[in-house]
Amino acid sequence: MAERILTGIKPTGNLHLGNYIGVLRRLKNFQNRGECFIFIADLHALTLPIDPEVLRQNSIDIASFYLAAGLDPEKATMFLQSSVSAHGEINAVFQNYLYMGELSRMTQFKDISSKMKDSSIGLGIFAYPVLMAGDIVLYDADIVPVGEDQTQHVEIARDLVNRFNNRYGKVLKMPKAEVSKVGKRIMSLSDPTVKMSKSNPKGDIFLKDDINVIRKKIMSAVTDLGCEVKYDPENKPGISNLLVIYAAMKDISIEEAEAKFVNYRYGDFKKEVADAVIEVIEPLQQRYKEIVENKLYLKVLQEGAIKARKVADKTLKSVHKAVGLLDINE
Ligand code: ATP
Ligand code: MG
Repeated sequence: MAERILTGIKPTGNLHLGNYIGVLRRLKNFQNRGECFIFIADLHALTLPIDPEVLRQNSIDIASFYLAAGLDPEKATMFLQSSVSAHGEINAVFQNYLYMGELSRMTQFKDISSKMKDSSIGLGIFAYPVLMAGDIVLYDADIVPVGEDQTQHVEIARDLVNRFNNRYGKVLKMPKAEVSKVGKRIMSLSDPTVKMSKSNPKGDIFLKDDINVIRKKIMSAVTDLGCEVKYDPENKPGISNLLVIYAAMKDISIEEAEAKFVNYRYGDFKKEVADAVIEVIEPLQQRYKEIVENKLYLKVLQEGAIKARKVADKTLKSVHKAVGLLDINE
């Protein structure tokens, strides 16, 4: 059977270059390699407060950027998480197979909750990995392409699969995270010690940014002491991040990028990084604009939901059966 590949982005804010490098640019390869399920994790976006209209717009944006990045509906199934009810239903079962201790040790939860008052931390942000395990397992995913920050959540999904299968037999498929060789964690341009994030947008390059703004942001990116363009994430996090961005845009290795910029001064180096980013993002923006204006995402999402439901409902049924929920239609 063809490899099943599943990945999602949550519509929490404007897509940035980290999302593009970590996930979007890899879609074309994945859809030629296996059977892809690509979704918009809108239920996950509810785990932190978000304005309903903003959520709707962000969802349209992500669907449109998936298509602009080359997602081919003939080859891949694109859908909204909320349009496949099995996600919520499997969550009701799976929440009993992950434990408070392990959930409270998740880095994402610790980061987010440390900035909030206990009284305002919703159950959803704590139980985030439960919903995500369901997302993965419902489609029998073998491979889950993610940025490095999400590998811990894929690991806990694997723990759940182990636990479940040990108890009920081999019901669930074991998934595996796959991070990109180049660009598994793109850092903020204004603080290269934190990752580029939708929810912490300082120093992000947004995919919707005006081309001139992108150039300006790269030219004023924080760099490091010294003057050598060298890949050394520990001592030169700013320059290293720009090298990774360049390598990802040109689809070359970091060593190749490093070799190109020997003897370059920071300013000239940054100019070439900006050119490389713009060369990729400008046509992406044009395709995105056309897709949004013509609402091309709508039919793809409608048809995708039908295809996704078929697969997800089948897994849900086998999970229900395994745990002993009575099937009255059998
Ligand atoms: P949020 O701040 O709301 O969590 P985010 O920018 O982290 O937003 P997600 O929707 O959580 O985006 O993640 C979508 C995908 O993009 C995931 O696979 C994630 O690992 C990847 N990703 C996110 N940020 C980066 C980054 N800086 N570099 C590489 N990949 C990233
Ligand atoms: Mg994130």
